[in-house]
Amino acid sequence: MLASALETYESWDLKKLSIPSRSRLYQLQPVGIGTPLVESLTGYISRLAEAHCVTPKALISRELVSFIPKTYKTTNLFEMRSLTGALNGIGTMALDLVTVLESLTLRSDLRFLSLLTWAGIFPQRRLLRARRAWCPYCYEEWYSSKDKVIYEPLIWFFEAVKFCHWHNQSLCQQCPHCQRQLPPLASYSRPGYCPYCLEWLGVTDNYPFSDKALPSKEEIIWQKWVIKTIGELIANTPHLPKPLQREIVAQAFCRYVNQFTEGNTAAFARMLDIPKNKVWMWQMGKVLPELNVILKICFTLQVSVLDFFTQETVKENYSQSPAIPQNQLGDSITKKLEVKFDSDRTQQLLEDLLQNNQQPLPMTVVAKRLGYPKRILYRHFPELCRAISAQYVKYMKESRIKRIEQCCEEVKQAVKQFYTEGIYPSEAAISRLLAKPGCFRDKEVRNALRAARREIGLEP
Ligand SMILES: [Zn+2]
Ligand SMILES: [Zn+2]
Repeated sequence: MLASALETYESWDLKKLSIPSRSRLYQLQPVGIGTPLVESLTGYISRLAEAHCVTPKALISRELVSFIPKTYKTTNLFEMRSLTGALNGIGTMALDLVTVLESLTLRSDLRFLSLLTWAGIFPQRRLLRARRAWCPYCYEEWYSSKDKVIYEPLIWFFEAVKFCHWHNQSLCQQCPHCQRQLPPLASYSRPGYCPYCLEWLGVTDNYPFSDKALPSKEEIIWQKWVIKTIGELIANTPHLPKPLQREIVAQAFCRYVNQFTEGNTAAFARMLDIPKNKVWMWQMGKVLPELNVILKICFTLQVSVLDFFTQETVKENYSQSPAIPQNQLGDSITKKLEVKFDSDRTQQLLEDLLQNNQQPLPMTVVAKRLGYPKRILYRHFPELCRAISAQYVKYMKESRIKRIEQCCEEVKQAVKQFYTEGIYPSEAAISRLLAKPGCFRDKEVRNALRAARREIGLEP
């Protein structure tokens, strides 16, 4: 037989294939990680149970319980219905459950379905609500769409969030069929359904929408801002290099007190309409303010909660495509993701600012004026930004020295004036006379007072 007539058959490759390790539970993809509409951990458990065709109770009692180390075993978990909200939060319950679920699904991103990353920053009080809240219109929309998943967004659990930003409707907190309030996770939980009467929670005739008083214009503006800033916060959680530490709260307050009121805590507190000692305690890091308070402060300062705490800590990492379509994101956030960066023009403007240094500005204000987040400016022009910032710090230092010198001089004059009028030159009396009454917080000014009194023999 001729060699050319022989056919070569495919040979077997006997090399061993590398088989990735198998997960005990399905590696179900969470919805919307890295977006404002990220899924909640309790909602994920309901979906995971549904994917395995079991109830959450069965999933937890048969699979998870033996790995949960603490006293709250399965049966207890469902008895503590209102506490199941803690699973989305910042405490050990959330941490234990995330650890177990991550090891059983071999996923490493489930912590972003809770607020664990923010555990060092926010106190538990009034952070998340103890009962479920939902938008029936969102459920209805996801139900009738072929490619959308019905799930429970984390943002619905925030106590401060009362609205659905996308449908301009108040979130519902009572089943329209059995009139009960629903725990975040129950034995028969299923996204979009009541775990008690098992009825659908999307739009039905049973909802008493018309009974509700319409929200005021101010309430709508406030809620839209709250949703936008909380959305930004949870969307950026996966981009943070590490969980934030408690110290950054005090640092943030010090930074903003310096920036807005030149280090005057009392003036800063007055501006925000908050007692001075509270602001001082936050500045010293002795107490953490609740999220509701932070929201009000940030709203007044017109800065997002994320920027308030992180400044340059957040990595600009928007290149990851969101798991949910863009049209489900808030308008403003979508715009932010798509913003185009005009490099040449920005560089020119930054250079101009650096040269025209009559009144240097802090980088936060520069960023606001140029219309880009500060971290983007730092990423593109680190040296220019650092130079502008250094110029501002130098200017602030010099202004402080000038201000103190002026105060010392005024104090000296005031002491002399009181002496000739036969009045004791007390700190309170002089404060009333001065242009800047708060100036005695500087030790240099207090020393000047002592020296002036000493000169006229009132102090040893
Ligand atoms: Zn909605
Ligand atoms: Zn019901």
